[in-house]
Amino acid sequence: KVKVIEPAGRIYLTFDDGPSEYTSALLDVLAKYNVKATFFVTGYGDDALIKREYDEGHAVGLHTNSHIYSYLYSSVDNYVVDLNAVGERVRRVTGKATKLMRFPGGSSNLISARYDGGGRIMSKLVSLMNEWGYTYFDWNVDSDDAGGASTPDQVYNNVVGALKRGGDSIVLQHDVKSYSVEAVERIIQYGLENNFTFSKLTADSFSAHHGVNN
Ligand code: ZN
Repeated sequence: KVKVIEPAGRIYLTFDDGPSEYTSALLDVLAKYNVKATFFVTGYGDDALIKREYDEGHAVGLHTNSHIYSYLYSSVDNYVVDLNAVGERVRRVTGKATKLMRFPGGSSNLISARYDGGGRIMSKLVSLMNEWGYTYFDWNVDSDDAGGASTPDQVYNNVVGALKRGGDSIVLQHDVKSYSVEAVERIIQYGLENNFTFSKLTADSFSAHHGVNN
């Protein structure tokens, strides 16, 4: 009799704001376990790291060039110029354009309301991105590595404790945070030991959209 093991769920590891000095070590860990992840990159860091992300089979998406909220969210034009700049970087470095993206702060962010003069810019940007064929991704598992978590143990516990069992988990981490990168090997080990599947995001995958609030 064949024992059928049900998958525990699918985990999409995502890393924002890089590349950085920690990205190389992260790529080594991902390669060690043959786990594919998703990077939402900026204008910062080394081109060679974005090339390596792409060449090693990870998804490379766009997270804006400057990541400066006061600039990005003060006008649709600014946002578009900045998005196009990082889009051009990814196209130049990888040889392939991408329409995967993540808004700084997520689609539900209210930070944008400080800068848009009451223009409800997130509503406009979500419509525009959809119209232009971009796919944007939020998350449903927050490592809190940009908030209260500041050690690998905290990041690990936040992620493992919030995984969607029997469903899809898009995990938010930042590869500009050393303690978050340091937690990744244990997160992968936990996932594999508990029969989760790891995948990269695609235009057709689960997307975990937050509600737009501005
Ligand atoms: Zn970010």
